[in-house]
Amino acid sequence: MQKTTLYGKMVAEEVEILVDELSIRRRVKELADEISRDYEDLKPLIVAVLRGSFVFVADLIRELEVDAKVDFITLENYEAGCNARGQTRVMADSTSHLSGEHVIVVEDIVDSGLTLHYLYKDFLAREPKSIEIVALLSKASSRRADVRVKYVGFEIPDRFVFGYGLDLQGKYRGLPFVACLKDDREA
Ligand code: 5GP
Repeated sequence: MQKTTLYGKMVAEEVEILVDELSIRRRVKELADEISRDYEDLKPLIVAVLRGSFVFVADLIRELEVDAKVDFITLENYEAGCNARGQTRVMADSTSHLSGEHVIVVEDIVDSGLTLHYLYKDFLAREPKSIEIVALLSKASSRRADVRVKYVGFEIPDRFVFGYGLDLQGKYRGLPFVACLKDDREA
């Protein structure tokens, strides 16, 4: 199978796995259990930030034991393949009815925190009952904006990562683990 061969070769030669598949599966279940306890009778509205969170949110909601509605927002905030720095732009938003909802924002990764800071302020203005954030990955060392992420999957070093929904120049979103390039340190 071409896909396996390509990824297999890449893993052996160029790629460092930062979070493996089993660890992701276990942690996603733990996060879902925690959220299920916290939102037991609340019917939360999950808003997944596209594109990077689509794999994470799909796994997360299947582990939840509460009935949750799911919505999506598409943001654009960095040049593909470069470090995440710059302006945030809303590309598509189907989340107009946040008023009175218990909103859980699902993000793939918090880097500078600027994206979530922007989104949080925007969402707050729409008068939800509550807002919390869940992020699969966090690079705490590169934080520039003050955001409170209640549920964090993994703290990772300040490296550019891909896999499990995150891309490297538009590719590798389908990898079941989170990885980075071995020689990205000067990037
Ligand atoms: P922040 O605004 O927190 O700096 O960046 C958040 C967004 O930047 C994430 O939702 C993600 O789209 C992108 N991003 C940040 N770090 C990485 C990374 O290491 N890899 C990838 N693929 N995207 C990243």
